[in-house]
Amino acid sequence: MNEESVDFLMIGGGIASFSCARALRAAGAGGSIGLVTRDPGPPFDRTACTKGYLRGDASHEDVLLAPDAWWQERDVALSTRTSALKLDPAARTVTLSDKRTLRYEQALLATGANVRRLRVEGAELQGIHYVRGLGNADAIRADAQDAADVVLVGGSYIATEAAASLTAMGKRCTIVMQEGVALERGLGPLAGRFFQRVIEEHGVTVCPSDELERFEGVDGRLTHVVTARGRRLPAQLAVIGAGVVPDTMLAQRGGLEIGATGGVVADECLRTRAAGLFAAGDMCEYPSVVHHGARLRIEHWDVAERQGATAAAGMLGEPRPHEAIPYFYSDLADWASLEYVGPARRWDEEVVRGSLEEGAFTVLYLDAGRVVAGLTVGRGHELDAVRALLRSGIDLHERRSELADDGTDLASLAETAAAVAVRAGSSPGGSSAAGQPAVPTAGPDADEPPVLFMCQMCGFIYEPEDGDELGAIAPGTRFADLPDEWTCPVCGAQKTDFERVED
Ligand SMILES: Cc1cc2nc3c(=O)[nH]c(=O)nc-3n(C[C@H](O)[C@H](O)[C@H](O)COP(=O)(O)OP(=O)(O)OC[C@H]3O[C@@H](n4cnc5c(N)ncnc54)[C@H](O)[C@@H]3O)c2cc1C
Repeated sequence: MNEESVDFLMIGGGIASFSCARALRAAGAGGSIGLVTRDPGPPFDRTACTKGYLRGDASHEDVLLAPDAWWQERDVALSTRTSALKLDPAARTVTLSDKRTLRYEQALLATGANVRRLRVEGAELQGIHYVRGLGNADAIRADAQDAADVVLVGGSYIATEAAASLTAMGKRCTIVMQEGVALERGLGPLAGRFFQRVIEEHGVTVCPSDELERFEGVDGRLTHVVTARGRRLPAQLAVIGAGVVPDTMLAQRGGLEIGATGGVVADECLRTRAAGLFAAGDMCEYPSVVHHGARLRIEHWDVAERQGATAAAGMLGEPRPHEAIPYFYSDLADWASLEYVGPARRWDEEVVRGSLEEGAFTVLYLDAGRVVAGLTVGRGHELDAVRALLRSGIDLHERRSELADDGTDLASLAETAAAVAVRAGSSPGGSSAAGQPAVPTAGPDADEPPVLFMCQMCGFIYEPEDGDELGAIAPGTRFADLPDEWTCPVCGAQKTDFERVED
């Protein structure tokens, strides 16, 4: 048996693994780092597969997470086209498809997710695609050359983004979806109607409250999509976005626990129950301190990236709870972009700031008066305030009209809410929100508390009283007063990569 030792092993070639390796080296980790992936190439921006890369606006090089030289410079051994076949958590070994067995000190399981396949009649016809990797996007682009009509199956991000990109490429697109309104499952009917209007105004036909029945073809190639409601839509190309299933095959074979969300069970610091073994990304289930300990499994790019950094801190003997509020973005070609923090599993009220008609708005999702999520379109500057409101867990029902009033400065309201939360003794995640006082309209509670900011990439904490001790910022400088171009003195992350933590 060919056995090798590695100090830090990343299993999977997605953003979670890449981010973990990057954060380890950024934090000065010595020792060997290996990354194994069954993908044919190095880690890439998966989100581009329905956006710029699909349209041909971004090249293969553009979407790589790091240039080839990075791997040598950071001394990270990259093994592509290599599957991890067996995990033995007790022995701390992983057996690979190239016959090697790697013994690790610390490892990250980040095997991501696979597309959910629809088993319907005609599913084997050529011209039917799912999209997860660059190869899928290449194949869709190739088939699109000879296609005039495209059917997108699904009413969520993958189908709507692909519809926007393919429309921008000159194709006639039709979306078939179970939802009554596009994107409503995650964003609610108000925002959903806005996005559907945008899609339809750009020429996409939407078939709501319907679903795929079967595919029809001639000579092995797709010609029509037939829906449950009896539509027979011409299509030379179909793209299916029916969700994903976390890839826990390796974990299950290794005897790791799988949680109710279908992900590998990890604790708040992303440690699995096996010594030295962490989990991150689409296949990781963790208790989120920001969400009162609710066990979440999130399928967002930014979450996977930040979780990789959290796992790296744990590997270096500095475990910390993963406290970042999940963030998601989506682009419908250049028609509209959204940013979202949450996620809201349920909400009983939606408060809109700005104008849905004009396409510049923020939707605050409230549950029992507390902000549980927020969506911004054309108003990304309000996202930090939404985060702060969410984190505070403060009951805002008495200030509902102020929330909706565009004249109210959301940032100051959020500062006040954070101050109240601190005085009420809640955690940074607002985990003791129940029973907290509502935000007062004025008074001493509006004072700003002392706040620290943590780099979500490497864990460096900016403390105003020390200033940027590794850089040139004077002690006493508040984080808010740092210049926008200021970067983390440890890993070079941007100012926007920092998140507020309470003292
Ligand atoms: C087309 C598309 C568009 C998206 N757009 C957005 C967006 O706009 N915004 C957003 O927030 N999120 C978006 N997402 C979701 C986001 O890309 C994922 O949440 C993120 O990529 C998850 O990263 P990960 O590292 O957990 O897993 P993945 O990126 O799935 O990576 C998992 C890796 O593990 C490898 N692997 C699995 N099993 C093994 C094994 N046994 N041995 C070796 N390697 C293995 C896989 O080959 C892969 O390299 C999009 C996803 C897709 C598919």
